[in-house]
Amino acid sequence: MIVVTKVNIDDGSTIWAQGGIAAVLDPADTTQAHLADTLVAGVGLCDEAAVEVLVTEGPGRLHELIALGAQFDRNPDGSLALTREGGHHADRIVHAGGDATGVEVQRALHAAVRRDPGLQVVEHALVLDLLPGADGRAAGITLHVLGEGTPDGVGAVLARAVVLATGGMGQVYAATTNPSVSTGDGVALGLRAGAVVTDVEFVQFHPTVLFLGADAGKGQQPLVSEALRGEGAILVDAAGTPFMRDVHELADLAPRDVVAKAITRVLLEQDVEHVYLDARHLGAGVLAHRFPTITARCRQAGIDPVHEPIPVTPAAHYASGGLRTDLDGRTSVPGLYACGEVSCTGVHGANRLASNSLLEGLVFAGRIGADLARDLPSQAEPRDLDTPTGLLDPGVRPAVTEAMTQGAGVLRSAVSLADTLGQLDRLGEKTSTDPGPSAWEATNLHTVATALAAAAERRTETRGCHWRTDHAGADERWRGHLLASIDADGELREQYEPAR
Ligand SMILES: Cc1cc2nc3c(=O)[nH]c(=O)nc-3n(C[C@H](O)[C@H](O)[C@H](O)COP(=O)(O)OP(=O)(O)OC[C@H]3O[C@@H](n4cnc5c(N)ncnc54)[C@H](O)[C@@H]3O)c2cc1C
Repeated sequence: MIVVTKVNIDDGSTIWAQGGIAAVLDPADTTQAHLADTLVAGVGLCDEAAVEVLVTEGPGRLHELIALGAQFDRNPDGSLALTREGGHHADRIVHAGGDATGVEVQRALHAAVRRDPGLQVVEHALVLDLLPGADGRAAGITLHVLGEGTPDGVGAVLARAVVLATGGMGQVYAATTNPSVSTGDGVALGLRAGAVVTDVEFVQFHPTVLFLGADAGKGQQPLVSEALRGEGAILVDAAGTPFMRDVHELADLAPRDVVAKAITRVLLEQDVEHVYLDARHLGAGVLAHRFPTITARCRQAGIDPVHEPIPVTPAAHYASGGLRTDLDGRTSVPGLYACGEVSCTGVHGANRLASNSLLEGLVFAGRIGADLARDLPSQAEPRDLDTPTGLLDPGVRPAVTEAMTQGAGVLRSAVSLADTLGQLDRLGEKTSTDPGPSAWEATNLHTVATALAAAAERRTETRGCHWRTDHAGADERWRGHLLASIDADGELREQYEPAR
């Protein structure tokens, strides 16, 4: 098996995860309660069968990760330490290193990959497109090897099955918690290959990233995990007034979309750039022990959370939608699988419940592995590849991210989305003569931005993390999914499908 990754194997969102992994491990908790919390967050659009798989298989997969070597924080009696996050009605978040869960998960998985002689890892190789098979099945991938210790150049890898695990698309916005590799490549590649993409309008904006100043707020921003609110930190405005108690019964631990919207409302009403997260009452001991990463990052920015409130603002965080899969991770293209944030298995619906995404990766990766072990297809005969045309000038990237932030961010309306789509249309004319990796990434960002903004424009309601200022509240006629695909003429097509 070959694992191809565009920078180093550690460069993805996983290593940045802070809060943890949700799983029912406390005897007082139940899978039904986890299911119920997930369905509430998803506001009518979760696929209940997929959520059932997630919550029932999750604990077993977590124990497999522990057996692989992952070390999670434990109580003095040796049991796993569990905390609570937004939208959960029980303590079910497993964490590591206080607030460095992703570092430990990535370390354990990386070590397991290194130990496995059956795995070949190719780093610094950008996957470009699916290599189509003559019979419509996936036959492999094309890639651009970036010349770190190997000759720079374009090539292909034949494969009996292709599993996309390319992560999210946060870089489509000007400010995001996602690393630079999260450019939506898998979704764009899938669309070009004829796969169905769904729910892309549901982008979760994390309510609290560290506000570093208006000029510093571009690209990847430092996250201030909601686990901090789980331990008692409170959101306040510039006057020190808490504002979440009047908004939701769970106050500061309301689902993320509710908190992001409440903060955005304060920003607009008070014409300010950030609110504050007050964690002073947790004390120096809790901050140092449970939140060493956040405390250190704040101090690096000149803010001491022991003595002053932390300035925070929302930023793009998580793509709830992606390549549509069945319960075994299969996309609509035979032989092409999707796993993790690039996929849309149906577990998140209109909004992801905190710490369900690492869990989704664990559970559905296991199911993909089992499916391939059962039924690995034969090698498809590759079709001749067309020379790529229409790749975009890498210089369009800042304009794409700005258009998305202005018109398709936390707040959207028919006017703002039409403006964004108009800008994207014009930017789509600026093609590149150099088909290098930067042109591919710019093209991918533009493709997913267009699909996202088009779906957001079409969905004339407010649901989950999709907030239309011109259509307040959820509309029963929209309790369904927008499916997007690219037709034979290269046009983006959308189709509505009522929720099951
Ligand atoms: C700051 C932050 C905190 C988070 N905290 C939590 C949390 O506490 N709990 C939780 O459940 N979730 C959390 N999430 C979300 C979660 O971390 C991600 O959804 C998850 O890690 C995604 O895993 P993945 O394997 O799908 O993608 P990633 O971990 O992003 O990996 C994708 C890989 O694909 C590679 N790649 C991408 N495109 C290409 C290409 N064209 N060619 C070759 N390689 C490519 C990338 O380089 C990368 O190695 C957090 C996310 C962020 C950003």
